[in-house]
Amino acid sequence: MTRRFLVGGNHKCNGNKESLKSLIEALNCANIPPKDTVEVVIAPPTLYLDYANTQINRDRFSVSAQNCYSESKGAFTGEISAEMIRDLALDWVILGHSERRHIFKESNELIAKKTKHSITQKLQVIFCVGEQLSDRNANNTEKVLDEQLHSLSTALSVEDWKNIVIAYEPVWAIGTGVTASPQQAQDAHVYIRKWLAEKVNEKVSSETRILYGGSVTATNAAELAQQSEIDGFLVGGASLVAASFITIIQSV
Ligand code: PGA
Repeated sequence: MTRRFLVGGNHKCNGNKESLKSLIEALNCANIPPKDTVEVVIAPPTLYLDYANTQINRDRFSVSAQNCYSESKGAFTGEISAEMIRDLALDWVILGHSERRHIFKESNELIAKKTKHSITQKLQVIFCVGEQLSDRNANNTEKVLDEQLHSLSTALSVEDWKNIVIAYEPVWAIGTGVTASPQQAQDAHVYIRKWLAEKVNEKVSSETRILYGGSVTATNAAELAQQSEIDGFLVGGASLVAASFITIIQSV
């Protein structure tokens, strides 16, 4: 089974219209492998989604939201819905990012609910999982991954999984400059794939893309990309710098 490489750029709460404009201009004329080799998705802050989607070359790139709520509409001040993301003609949303889990205290159940609702609205979901340093040090990495994946699988039908891309992002590697070693990343991805085979089925296990995220840079991407179970990256800081992000896309 060949899984198409995917590189996502998660801008988080960074940048402005001017920086986004130059990033998009650089991406639109970048010399990168074709779409059937590497899919590229950028996730600017919500306020800039429409702008990004009208400026970017949509034949080559997709634009993703960084989050959304689990309900279609209503009294949820500050939230956006999957329906609104679709209304802007976007196809992607990132859910369960560690900053949503830890800063905003989103539970496994809420994230699973958001994911199910997004899929019913025909969005593709980059679903993030990953352990904290204390979990890793206590040998609890697999336990944490089990819990995060378990609530997701209880919310999804087998059919739904084709709309999921998993991003394994160890929290200790996010924004810290400490990247998981290629072997650490590979081991976690192997574990997630085994989990999928046992708890969902072999087909979902072999077809689901598993991205690595956490201090991916232009320098370390190529070595990580060589790992057999790494199907791409979710990139934070380095996705804001056109030259770095383009080098990461070229690292396949
Ligand atoms: P980072 O962030 O690349 O800045 O470590 C990754 C992420 O949070 O998705």
